[in-house]
Amino acid sequence: MNKRDLARYRKLIEAERRLVHDKLGVIESEISDRSDQTSAGHAYSNHMADIGSDVMEQEQAFLHASKGNDYLGQLDDALKRIEVGTYGSCEECGSKIPVKRLEAFLPARLCIECKSKLEKLHKS
Ligand SMILES: [Zn+2]
Repeated sequence: MNKRDLARYRKLIEAERRLVHDKLGVIESEISDRSDQTSAGHAYSNHMADIGSDVMEQEQAFLHASKGNDYLGQLDDALKRIEVGTYGSCEECGSKIPVKRLEAFLPARLCIECKSKLEKLHKS
């Protein structure tokens, strides 16, 4: 990948990073808001059913947040690969990762062929 392409992807990844970061920020504040409400609720009533669903929602929010953090890590990793100039090359076979694949999933590390090989390996 040439320098112009790398610079273009760096911008795309940085924009995506900010987007995910903002979303995670929202999720994190939602979690702390709910915790406040739940602890306040405890003092006033013992509505077990209500508390139960609150906990469920909290867990789901945490799950989303951890998935988002994972994705953020992958984006950071992609930025590092842009720095060293290996971004856009398959880590397995070294061939170019198709632009369509990169644009669908910016932190892609493998070409479609190696990815599907790996997936088959995991399934068997
Ligand atoms: Zn490959």
